[in-house]
Amino acid sequence: MDWSRFALGRRRSDASAPAHIVALPYRLLEEAPLMALVLDQRMQVQFANRAAREFFELTPEQLPDSLIILTRELRVEAAIRSGGEIHSEIRLVHRPATVLVTVVPGYGPGEIVAFVDDLTELRRLQTVRQEFVANLSHELRTPITSLRLAAESLVGELPEADRRRFAKRALKEADHLAAIVDNLRQLAEIEAGRPAVRRSRVDLAELVVEVRRRNRLDRDLRVEVQPGLAIVADREKLAQALANLLDNAAKFSPPEEPIEVDARSIEGELVITVRDHGQGISPEHWDRIFERFYKVDPARSREMPGTGLGLAITKHLAQLMGGRVWTEAAEGGGQVFALALPVEPITFA
Ligand code: ADP
Repeated sequence: MDWSRFALGRRRSDASAPAHIVALPYRLLEEAPLMALVLDQRMQVQFANRAAREFFELTPEQLPDSLIILTRELRVEAAIRSGGEIHSEIRLVHRPATVLVTVVPGYGPGEIVAFVDDLTELRRLQTVRQEFVANLSHELRTPITSLRLAAESLVGELPEADRRRFAKRALKEADHLAAIVDNLRQLAEIEAGRPAVRRSRVDLAELVVEVRRRNRLDRDLRVEVQPGLAIVADREKLAQALANLLDNAAKFSPPEEPIEVDARSIEGELVITVRDHGQGISPEHWDRIFERFYKVDPARSREMPGTGLGLAITKHLAQLMGGRVWTEAAEGGGQVFALALPVEPITFA
């Protein structure tokens, strides 16, 4: 950057000041983490710091030029011109961004400095949090209503059979609420990045048997591991991720059909797949089912025990282990969930 440019004629009353002193404010702005645009009275951008150039995709050679020509964002100019409004939050038109523009008097006569703060990520996180709270309230309301109804019924005189039925309903809803709370705790722990990744050698077939026992899965599970493949992973996290996938496979496929687990090394990644022979999921839901509380068919899922959080937890666990998870249609029907981990598999020939 040719700083002497900004020292010339910037402040007539300062004509005697050495060039490097006059250019100093620009040098400070250049490295600031906030975007800064220095404008004259005619809304010509005289200077844009590094952050602003990157955001608006400008080169120093393009300056000076009109703010609108450089940014194509009419609202930014309107915010700066509005004078009285010192802070304005604006949603940009040509970029998917929300920015806060703060205008302060500049260094030279009539000069204005506009600081532009990119709030996009902050606003996105706020929306995610609001949606999460709304979804959570919705998810809690149904079991609580059902629990209340069962408890109300139990207060009155009832035949023994009805009493048992309502008591069972109350227990089921209490378990459902406990599962939601437990899943929320798991998610919170994972998001806080608390559980450190501990790698060890894992026998996948043995792990699947253990998950089956822990989750009381009464299903025909078939495990196939590529011969000679040594799986090195965080055993507990892998178990938790697999448990969610196996639970879903069991829930969403006929009980007499097997569930197949396969592990192999593909292009340097360890890829574990869980395949069921159920109805499958239509492709438009493939990404969304990993969101918290997303259910393909909420009415149908209502009959199934489930919190809508299992796949969100699996996705977070995969990311924590440095991997990823996705789903696709299984050849010949059913759904495949794949977990890819970036472990260097040790193969024994
Ligand atoms: P849930 O507790 O409802 O199972 P998940 O996050 O584990 O929550 O799954 C989200 C949704 O994805 C489920 O409600 C279901 O609609 C769909 N889903 C997950 N796994 C399968 C599968 N193997 N076959 C069909 N649908 C599935």
